Amino acid sequence: MDSLIKTVNLRKAYRVGNEKVVALDCINLDIPKGQVCCILGTSGSGKSTLLNQLAGLEKPTRGEVYIKGEKISSMSEKQLAHFRQMNVGFVFQSYNLLQGMSAIDNVAMPLNFRGVSKSKREKAAKTMLKKVGLEKRMTHKPSEMSGGQQQRVGIARAFVTKPDVVFADEPTGNLDTRTTREVMDLFLEFARQEGITIVLVSHDQNLAKYADRIVTLVDGEIISDKINNSLYDVTNELKEQMKPLVENKSYKELSSLILKTTSDYTEGVAVQALEYNFTSLENPREFMEELIAIIDNETEKALFTRIGRETGAIPKETDSKRLAENKSNKEKIVKKTKKEKKQGFFDKIKGKKIDTVDKKADKKADKKEDKAQTPKNNNDTASDDKKDDKKDNIEKSNTEGNEE
Ligand code: ADP
Ligand code: MG
Repeated sequence: MDSLIKTVNLRKAYRVGNEKVVALDCINLDIPKGQVCCILGTSGSGKSTLLNQLAGLEKPTRGEVYIKGEKISSMSEKQLAHFRQMNVGFVFQSYNLLQGMSAIDNVAMPLNFRGVSKSKREKAAKTMLKKVGLEKRMTHKPSEMSGGQQQRVGIARAFVTKPDVVFADEPTGNLDTRTTREVMDLFLEFARQEGITIVLVSHDQNLAKYADRIVTLVDGEIISDKINNSLYDVTNELKEQMKPLVENKSYKELSSLILKTTSDYTEGVAVQALEYNFTSLENPREFMEELIAIIDNETEKALFTRIGRETGAIPKETDSKRLAENKSNKEKIVKKTKKEKKQGFFDKIKGKKIDTVDKKADKKADKKEDKAQTPKNNNDTASDDKKDDKKDNIEKSNTEGNEE
């Protein structure tokens, strides 16, 4: 693969009073086109400093940064600003949306700088908002959206120009686990569909699992650099592998596949792939019960019961013993019409389906928002209190004169 970003002996040091803080040293990175690369490290390890160097938001103390073969570390501020507008997208932890503007106007904004006409800008913004599952929120302002929805707008804005690379600093730092998964699925979807390179920075191991490559920083130096099988690809593969097994009712094979997945990866992956295949089932509950019935091992039975509950196929109160009883004594189960059952199942999984770019996404967001309005708002306020990435960058670039 072609190299998209390259650094040579990159170093960044700050002077704080009489002390010198070496935030980055000896960074030699080569990120190929289309790769999703995660820079992983604890707080203070130099992640944001590295991202700012790669994106040309800060000048290195020593060393070089190239994007598409262009030496951005030697560009003037004006050249850099233009280069970023033409080639780069950003996603921030605190979303950084313009508060007075609607979702459409926020997303259309980067196209302004590229001289795209108003009607074309709006059309492109609408298409992007649909892709991130916000077709019903297009005219909403950031204050009228949940954290997860605002970050979807942030992602739509970053990708609307189809940039070569999107940089993201802790993009899911203010989001819950499920929303994090949805946001990461979006990143990966755009990366795969458009061949867009993504560099994301995080302290979160779970987020790193979505990347193609994990570069770990400690005290400003790379201590490990590993290729990773993205959870996004793993999940998609599993969805396909499960399909024929579900259709042919090969439950033994299906259960071994699920067990292997949960031990190789996480239960979450198995749940996600199963949920996907539920849509082609007439009766998911019966399916889960049959699956559980063929398992001898109690621990595994418990695992499948948990997965059944996670996917919404099994009612929360049912324990594994009762499930087995139900299986052998089917008349105890209150029979509903097939249609009713199917509808009930969809109601249950409505807030859960992970296929982010489908029609259910917005309904799901609605539901989630209704449920979590108060905590989400608190979260957002809390994030506003945190260091604002943009402000951070401005502050940092102001210290450039203080380098060693
Ligand atoms: P991370 O993003 O991994 O939490 P940072 O890149 O923000 O870490 O910071 C790495 C190190 O550089 C830290 O020790 C931090 O205090 C220092 N640092 C970052 N920015 C500045 C600055 N503008 N002035 C002085 N020190 C800084
Ligand atoms: Mg940081």
